[in-house]
Amino acid sequence: MSKRSTNIEQLLRENIRTIVPYSSARSEFSGSAEVFLDANENYRDFVGDLGRNRYPDPLQRELKSEISDLFQVPKEHIFLGNGSDEAIDLLYRAFARPGVDRSVVLPPTYGVYTVFADLNDVTVESCLLTEEFHIDIPRVKELVRKQPETLKLLFICSPNNPTGNAMELEDIRQVLELFPGIVVVDEAYQDFSEKQSALSLLGEFEHLVVLRTLSKAWGLASARLGMAFADPRIINVLTNIKYPYNISGPAQEAAKQALSQREQVQETVTRIVDSRDELAAAVEKLSYVKRVYPSSANFILLKTTNADELCSLLRDQGIIIRNRTTQPLCKGCVRITIGSTQENHRLLEAMKALEGQL
Ligand SMILES: *Cc1c(COP(=O)(O)O)cnc(C)c1O
Repeated sequence: MSKRSTNIEQLLRENIRTIVPYSSARSEFSGSAEVFLDANENYRDFVGDLGRNRYPDPLQRELKSEISDLFQVPKEHIFLGNGSDEAIDLLYRAFARPGVDRSVVLPPTYGVYTVFADLNDVTVESCLLTEEFHIDIPRVKELVRKQPETLKLLFICSPNNPTGNAMELEDIRQVLELFPGIVVVDEAYQDFSEKQSALSLLGEFEHLVVLRTLSKAWGLASARLGMAFADPRIINVLTNIKYPYNISGPAQEAAKQALSQREQVQETVTRIVDSRDELAAAVEKLSYVKRVYPSSANFILLKTTNADELCSLLRDQGIIIRNRTTQPLCKGCVRITIGSTQENHRLLEAMKALEGQL
């Protein structure tokens, strides 16, 4: 397999290339000691005997080593962030010059890519997905023809939020071959998908970043733990520019605990996927549901006759779903997360009762 190499150094912003990272007392220390008087911490822990008085490992070495085993990716290829959101923001800061550079998103997709572009004063180019929500390769080709030197980031969400479908690995490969900057594949929902992960392309493309999260399948949205997998040069940059203690001690502990329950997580994922398919089949029969899109995630997207009204009538019964009707190609669409058996049942009964009202 031939490797496409990328001049990562050259893609980086000048100030990032030369940055001197903050070196904390804890990142300089490795080895064993008994008396820690180097970080101005309190010697007492008021929360219990949990070490909450101490700064956490800034490099998250133990956790990274477990993630490395689980995903079969060497530690040097792993960055851990305060949610995947942190990795997305840092990628902008590392690669996109404010007021000069551009990023590419493929709508309808996750809104955070655009929010962080705006925050970093980076122009966003939209390359609409096809009607069936796949990557429109000719459109991407067209886009990269104009001023490729300012195109720094492209975001592919697969399985895609809010549409639920996974992108074809072959399409992702084509984008990697076309795009001059960093290609980010956000796999927040990959645990629910049968399709092959883009992690399998890491060995071939140095400008690929794959994002994963513990917020969905791993049940740890509250802890804020996102992962970026990429070439060590990209990982080093992200590590150099992150907040020194970006993952709190409690978050690192919670993550280790969740990762130790792989079987329970896998069982739950299987249950959610089964419920998803059952719910999809059931709501498809409702007269006001025009279409249920195929899903490789833990949610389904439905096209309905009136999304606003449906959301509002369900809200009156204490059930919240996500209205996506204003998203491109999503007129009349709502996104429904798969919950517990009881929650799904309650939703379905409520939706059945709305027959004739919509
Ligand atoms: C939920 C979600 C995430 C997760 O973000 P975290 O910051 O890790 O919680 C990432 N990407 C997409 C597309 C999502 O829907």
